[in-house]
Amino acid sequence: MVFESIRNESFEQIIYCHDPRVGLRGIISVHSTVLGPGVGGCRVWAYASESDALTDVLRLSKGMTYKASLANLNWGGGKAIIWLNEKQKKTPEMFQRFGELVDRLGGSYVTAKDVGTNAEDLKNVKSKTEHVLGIDGEPGSSGDPSPATAFGVYHGIRSAVQFALGSSTLSGLRIAIQGLGSVSYYLCEYLKNEGAQLIGCDIDAAAVTRATQKYGVSIVPPEVIYDQECDVFVPGAMGAILNSKTIPRIKAKVIAGHANNQLATPEDGEELRRRGVLYAPDYAINAGGLINIYYERPDGIHAQYNKEKAYAHVARIGQTMTEIFKRSQTERLPTHLVADRMAEERIENARKK
Ligand code: NAD
Repeated sequence: MVFESIRNESFEQIIYCHDPRVGLRGIISVHSTVLGPGVGGCRVWAYASESDALTDVLRLSKGMTYKASLANLNWGGGKAIIWLNEKQKKTPEMFQRFGELVDRLGGSYVTAKDVGTNAEDLKNVKSKTEHVLGIDGEPGSSGDPSPATAFGVYHGIRSAVQFALGSSTLSGLRIAIQGLGSVSYYLCEYLKNEGAQLIGCDIDAAAVTRATQKYGVSIVPPEVIYDQECDVFVPGAMGAILNSKTIPRIKAKVIAGHANNQLATPEDGEELRRRGVLYAPDYAINAGGLINIYYERPDGIHAQYNKEKAYAHVARIGQTMTEIFKRSQTERLPTHLVADRMAEERIENARKK
């Protein structure tokens, strides 16, 4: 069943964790440690089946390998899931046991926050292992990743605008933002300061109020965000929103935002290229939070977080984007495929050394 799921792909280790005394059912997937430890959060979810849980952890761990590689981090990719049944609640003991099992991997997997885990859960993990990062509020922690993610997205948007529109400033450009949550809020500040005109939507009234009051964002109903006259479209909420129904409606020449898994299918990336829309691959442009957390331990397990170095690295997302766009043009390939190639090349080069 497991080997069947991964066929010709290489996953270094897939570890099943089980302890009925504390109700722990989990899977850790270490996709690659070629560039460094497999880093990735621990997701807690009531999956419908074991197969769903396995599929999710495999997909997410592989995604982390690509994201870390393209962000030029000396990290590989990993991920963990804890599979709750529908009535089950997470407990401190569950995370402590999970921490013990993570510890046994000796640092080849380093865990962090993901959907369903919070700082309290991670503190329980940390009581049993050093191999955990990003505990908000702890001394030396890099804290909330959203501001760093926003900073990276800002640099990515600037590169995309320079490449597609030949403009070195965002001043006067119309930028439509889908979702005005945590990352978008910080992003608005950068965009507004540079003189962009902001249009946005959200399904949450509080998020809308915050964005209008602080940044004067013009609000439109969520269902018409795709139809706005704009230069840049920023997906900042959910995945799979670039699909055969939405792509023909988007008027922007640049799509660049932080939501994960924006393309519904790889063909949608091809379609954007065919239409002459420059798409900033999601995992490349939204890597700022991951880069930020890297600076909790760039030189080893007990290094101190260094914001200045972290943000200097995050800003280089702009250069990575430009490299992707140039290669996409010369190799006549959609940008999401170029990003994958670049990530794979770095891993292959490291493997040969
Ligand atoms: P968030 O929950 O703070 O913000 C998301 C916002 O989208 C919320 O305000 C929500 O109400 C809104 N939303 C949901 N459905 C919507 C719809 N149909 N139309 C309009 N708005 C809608 O989350 P966030 O941390 O800002 O993350 C946003 C996206 O960026 C997610 O896809 C996340 O996975 C991705 N991302 C975040 C980070 C980070 O550092 N937080 C890093 C990488 C990727």
